[in-house]
Amino acid sequence: MILPKASRLTPEQLNEVTAIVTEFGCSIQPIIGAVRSIYAILGDERDELMINRLEGLDYIERIDRIQSPFKLMDRRSDLSTHRIRVGRSILGEELVVIAGQCTIDPKNPNYFYETAAAVKEAGATSLRGGVWKPRTNPYSFQGDAKSLDILMEASRRTGLPVDAEVMDEDQVKLALDAGVHMLQVGARNALNYSLLRTIGKAVSQRPDRSVLLKRSLHMGPIAEFVSAAEYIVAFGNPNVILCPRGTAPTLDGYRNHPDESITPLLKEKTWAPVIVDPSHSVGKASYVPACALAAVAYGADGLCIESHVSPSHGIGDDPKQAVTPEVLAGIIRQARALWALRRGMA
Ligand code: PEP
Ligand code: MN
Repeated sequence: MILPKASRLTPEQLNEVTAIVTEFGCSIQPIIGAVRSIYAILGDERDELMINRLEGLDYIERIDRIQSPFKLMDRRSDLSTHRIRVGRSILGEELVVIAGQCTIDPKNPNYFYETAAAVKEAGATSLRGGVWKPRTNPYSFQGDAKSLDILMEASRRTGLPVDAEVMDEDQVKLALDAGVHMLQVGARNALNYSLLRTIGKAVSQRPDRSVLLKRSLHMGPIAEFVSAAEYIVAFGNPNVILCPRGTAPTLDGYRNHPDESITPLLKEKTWAPVIVDPSHSVGKASYVPACALAAVAYGADGLCIESHVSPSHGIGDDPKQAVTPEVLAGIIRQARALWALRRGMA
């Protein structure tokens, strides 16, 4: 990781630095921050001669070498002071709540508009709505690109940023072109490295966009989760948020094995913000409030909760796991109080 003395390298300086690292089989990835930019050395940066030559340049402040499988996401990385903004909220400064339907029903858009207004009223800071859905059953509703217009219309009406899952390159492009603020990588795709790369490239020049990376059901060690985030960040946009959402089920009764308890461990290893999804973790509306509060107690920076004005009229996961906006309002009130207590602000 190269830190220049000035806020960023001039094009000539960048050329000189690139020429040096190229000799050693490495490349440079600029990470452009609002205040200062840093330059990641991609490749094997162990060669002392390469480091010495870089350190010898009079416009370089220092070279930080992090021996970690995820050197950009590492807690010791120079990105650790980076703050991610979602709409008007800055993660880490307030509890961020993404709420909305699992799936937008393109035949009944009014449910989504009503849900969007109601979750905003309940205190949500961001909207969610499934446009394309990864369904286990190939004959179940797979989503519909038409729902993208409904999602963006709800964003305009409420003034809230929106999150939607994308599963392939076409969807990534359609979502970004439509103005989706946060791309969601679902649990089933969190280990799909070519999709992670596609998203990394697509958002590399879009510092106004962020990525919500769900934890795969099959991820084991923490490094596997954080390294998946590194795939995206390595292309230059550091706005990646980690989202535990339950792993392979072990308890008879919960949809998945709740994993909000990994939050302190994540926070020890990486600077990335953590938004926990209690809805997919426990998979039943009545269990969601407890899981949401547990996540905040464990140190989550935010929550992603499925909510619907009339869950029984919803599609996808909504009939089972969406909470009503009234229940959501209660969760948010208690979660914010707990968040303040944890931060010593109450
Ligand atoms: C969802 O958010 O509706 C979803 C399908 O999430 P996950 O990938 O966590 O199952
Ligand atoms: Mn869902």
